Amino acid sequence: SKELGRNAFHLYKPVMNTRSLERLALETHFKKALRTDAFELFYQPKININSNQIAGVEALIRWQCNELGAISPAQFIPIAESLGLIVELDLWVINRACQQVQLWIAQDIPFEHVAINISALHFSQGNLVLAIKNVLLQWQIPANRIEIEITESSFICSLSEAKSVLEELNELGIKIALDDFGTGFSALSYLTQLPINTLKIDASFIANIPEEYGNSQIVSAIIALAKSLHLGLVAEGVEQEKQLHFLKQLQCPVIQGYFFSEPLTAHECTAFIKQYNHP
Ligand code: C2E
Ligand code: CA
Ligand code: CA
Ligand code: CA
Repeated sequence: SKELGRNAFHLYKPVMNTRSLERLALETHFKKALRTDAFELFYQPKININSNQIAGVEALIRWQCNELGAISPAQFIPIAESLGLIVELDLWVINRACQQVQLWIAQDIPFEHVAINISALHFSQGNLVLAIKNVLLQWQIPANRIEIEITESSFICSLSEAKSVLEELNELGIKIALDDFGTGFSALSYLTQLPINTLKIDASFIANIPEEYGNSQIVSAIIALAKSLHLGLVAEGVEQEKQLHFLKQLQCPVIQGYFFSEPLTAHECTAFIKQYNHP
């Protein structure tokens, strides 16, 4: 067994090296991408079940790297965070999303808001309020056309700091959604302590409803919680008719997922909104 252990060690080491080389390549290309504006924003529609209209769209970043191909944000967001470049990346996203909002308003495209994902680290590393104020001014758009999507990890470190940032944003008229709801570890008391407008039920709870009893009960409890606290609610990752049917029965107001649409280019999303809201 000692022999086996040694072999395992020798086999493992080159894998580690390949890994760290891959990581280094990713980091190098990521830095270049940030300098050369190589990202694109896609937009995924959220459908209001009651009015059967587009409630809003979520901006999702995409990176098609010339050398490495398409890299998912789940891969490069952590890299941006570890390189200390996440604030810069978030600012790029905020700016681009607001530019799109201006364009859609000018074109009379009927949408409520664009939702922007903000990294948890942005709360400790940047000045989110000032950044958003500046971008709103630059593109001359009203704050209520922007929603930010944050996760619990944004306020797990410093609740009071996050609270003051969120309150300032709330006063500006920015809407605040809590992403991946149900997957975190913090107490529910923050729901009444922070100016949160909307909960997004994490896709992992939606994946196997209605067959899976436990998740179906959790989803139904979250819907009841949101209703009693007068919070907006979005179910994400809805792919199948049976999931939609279950969520409709429980009166979940807003649905997002491949069942309605994948994330689309700005151009495709414009066509989708026009077609959906004026059939
Ligand atoms: P998220 O904010 O929870 O976004 C939802 C993810 O689920 C997106 O993956 C979306 O494309 C995907 N999705 C949507 N509908 C469905 C569905 O019906 N089925 C399945 N299987 N997936 C669906 P994406 O775009 O790869 O983003 C992954 C994560 O990366 C996001 O999770 C978010 O945490 C982060 N991210 C994406 N864009 C940005 C950004 O612009 N800024 C920041 N800071 N983070 C971002
Ligand atoms: Ca999100
Ligand atoms: Ca999510
Ligand atoms: Ca997520």
